[in-house]
Amino acid sequence: MSAPERLRITGGTVYDPANGIDGEVRDICIEGGRIVERLPAGGPTLDARGMVVMPGGVDIHAHFASSSCNHARRLIPDEHAADPAPAPHLPEDERPARSGTGGSVPSTFTTGYRYAGLGYTTAFDAAVAPLMARHSHSELDDTPCVDGGIFALMGNDEYLLRQIEAGERDRARDYAAWLLQATGAYAMKIVNPGGVEAWKAGQRNVSGLDEPVGGRRVTPRAILETLTDAANALRLPHPVHIHCNNLGTAGNFTTTLASMQALAGRRAHFTHLQFHCYGGGGGQPWSSAATKVIEYVNAHPEVSTDVGQVMFGPAMTITADAPVEYLLHKSSGRRWTNIDIELETGCGIVPLTYKDKAAVGALQWVVGLELFLLSNDPWRVVLSTDHPNGGSFLSYPALIQLLMDRSVRDDQLKRLNPKLIAGSALADGIAREFTLNEIAIITRAGPARLLGLRQKGHLGAGADADVTIYSRDSNLATMFSTPRYVIKGGVIIVEEGQLRRAPAGRRLRVAPEYDDAVLADVRRHFDAYSSVSFDNYPVQVLPGEPVALG
Ligand SMILES: [Zn+2]
Repeated sequence: MSAPERLRITGGTVYDPANGIDGEVRDICIEGGRIVERLPAGGPTLDARGMVVMPGGVDIHAHFASSSCNHARRLIPDEHAADPAPAPHLPEDERPARSGTGGSVPSTFTTGYRYAGLGYTTAFDAAVAPLMARHSHSELDDTPCVDGGIFALMGNDEYLLRQIEAGERDRARDYAAWLLQATGAYAMKIVNPGGVEAWKAGQRNVSGLDEPVGGRRVTPRAILETLTDAANALRLPHPVHIHCNNLGTAGNFTTTLASMQALAGRRAHFTHLQFHCYGGGGGQPWSSAATKVIEYVNAHPEVSTDVGQVMFGPAMTITADAPVEYLLHKSSGRRWTNIDIELETGCGIVPLTYKDKAAVGALQWVVGLELFLLSNDPWRVVLSTDHPNGGSFLSYPALIQLLMDRSVRDDQLKRLNPKLIAGSALADGIAREFTLNEIAIITRAGPARLLGLRQKGHLGAGADADVTIYSRDSNLATMFSTPRYVIKGGVIIVEEGQLRRAPAGRRLRVAPEYDDAVLADVRRHFDAYSSVSFDNYPVQVLPGEPVALG
């Protein structure tokens, strides 16, 4: 049976913040995979009386479809044994259902099924080495139920660094545009600007915005400025996506604020902010600097962030920030891997468990919650755990519960050692409880708007018919982890809490224009330094059409 062309969701309580609808009982009409104003009477209906209706979830920052994730999967055979994922029973699906493994980095099909089971219908892999883009597209092909795309790593790219050194910022912009197009990426990503290249060159890391990278005439500041301006000049739907220098180190909030100030007035997204908001260092104990950073974010509308909340339990750190992973391996003693991606970036992976009795873990949990609870604009401070770095995406419902229910939050807070979190705003007591409308903003409407996805994150006419319907439950974690229905592009994929269909997702990518005069020079660079020929480098077959630019 194919999906009904038309469907009316009747009587649900709708939360659609992008259209100013905050808990109104109304019908949602679907035709041809899109939301429409109205339908003629008499067609198929879905009774949502007493239930909560929201747009499908949008994950702005996760790691689930990359060669790095594959390395991570190889590192944790014990998790695979502990969480086998049998093939779901999909009676109506034309594609064969696939078994897989779960754990912190599920296999591809299982990732798609589990996102759907959570009510998420769009997700981005936030760090893909351009050279490995082909691999990511193959993984996305095998990740059903979610529309998705990739962010291309550029902050340590040898060709870009050379252009920045030479003052050739226009050429850097043209190269970045070509790279987006060649890799089928959606956005530009910077990880530890210059720091990964410094690590690869034998330097420990870079510590400040004006420290030369590997003794060259290029600095983190110049990388940030060049790529931020390039993304904005190219009118990309999502601004440059920045993982700042000094992730996870005591006292790093000064670097975070300096990076924001360096780009003041320019649209930029600062990712997993929680990992960048620590005080202390220089002999002082670690402390929360969330208040100082969120004050800046609150006052600067051009800045957006996702939080990167840490949740207690198992996680997997996967990042292009290779020098950070060396530190993490040394401090945790856990198994690790560190990978060079020629001319472009690096990658480090360490499995990790966040413990509420551990000083840094407790502080990280507090810092993330402070960023959420002290934000005055949920549209610009959206939900992420940096899956699987701060915890699996499966922990989003528990995080939503922490934000909506102070008593649950305070119960967890009481289990932390008060000495470790003394002086933090959360320890002093924050009364705020998020509303359902605010949850709809930080998990759907906000990320969609920050990503420039005009057809996602809302339920107005013309939007993609991605809808999640929850039964109310006094336990909010239960409510958000077991949606009753999930509709993807007008197709009911979760019915009575069971996955029923697993359609392929759509690829979201951009293809900005550039002056192709740059290509002759890029070809020379490939001929001189790359193990891959220039002609073989671009991903040959990309699905779908690129998203329109702003
Ligand atoms: Zn990340």
